[in-house]
Order: sequence, then C-alpha cells, then structure tokens
Amino acid sequence: MSVSRLTAAIAAAERALATAGDADFAALADELDAARQGVRDDELQMRAVTLWLRVQERLKQAALDSLARSLPPCPCCRSRDLMIAEHCTFGDLRGVDNHTLRFTMIVCSACGDTRLRCENATELVTDAGFRAVTVPAPAPDGPFR
Ligand SMILES: [Zn+2]
Repeated sequence: MSVSRLTAAIAAAERALATAGDADFAALADELDAARQGVRDDELQMRAVTLWLRVQERLKQAALDSLARSLPPCPCCRSRDLMIAEHCTFGDLRGVDNHTLRFTMIVCSACGDTRLRCENATELVTDAGFRAVTVPAPAPDGPFR
C-alpha cells in the first residue's frame, strides 16, 4: 500500500545487515513482508524480497551460532569441529497430537560420532516408542566430579 513504508523497511534492513550487531532481524523480516503487501513497484518488490532472504539467512546463522556455543566438544575424540543438520525427521516418529518430531543431528567431523537432539522434546510420548527413565545421580566420589 505504502511505498514510503516499504522504502523505510528496506533502509532499516540494509542498515541492520551492514552491521555485525544483533539487530531484531525477526522484526525486520516481518516489517519487510508486511510493508511490501500491495506495493506495485517491481524494483522495490525485488529489493524487499532479496533483503528478506538475506535477513532470513542472518537469522539462521544466529541460531546456528547460538547452538554451536551451547554444544560440548565431541564426547568421543574431544574435537570441536562439528557438522550440524537441523530439522531432521525419522520415519514415522510422532509426538503429541501426531506432530512430527524434529531433531538436530550433530556429527563430529573428525571421528563421525553422531548425536541427536530432539527439537520438541516436550512432545515425546510413550506411545511413540519412547520410555521415560531417570538416570541415577552420580556418586559424590564417582567419575563425574
Ligand atoms: Zn569425534
């Protein structure tokens, strides 16, 4: 509807992308998407979509960086060089309300050790084949000090 709103959204996204800082990229993406609705200028539309894609890439990278900071080194060989695949699904593993369970797969680049993290662990239910267990607390003088 408003060319000036879209122009402002484009300028804000360009400014944020030009910096290394952590702008609110989710809000910038939402504004680019909302502001371009109804605008009939093809060049502005192309700029907005291109920027929206760049903002999405920045959001993905920020999420990946955050995940990488939370991961311990490989439990087998202690390498810190890992490969990560997000949003993996496996066969017919389903959770609450038949939602598809999504996993993040973490593979050690050095030895191939593979770990999985369930992205929606609160949706795990026993009828999906999972059984709940609680591991014992480590002994105070055990190997986990
Ligand atoms: Zn390893």
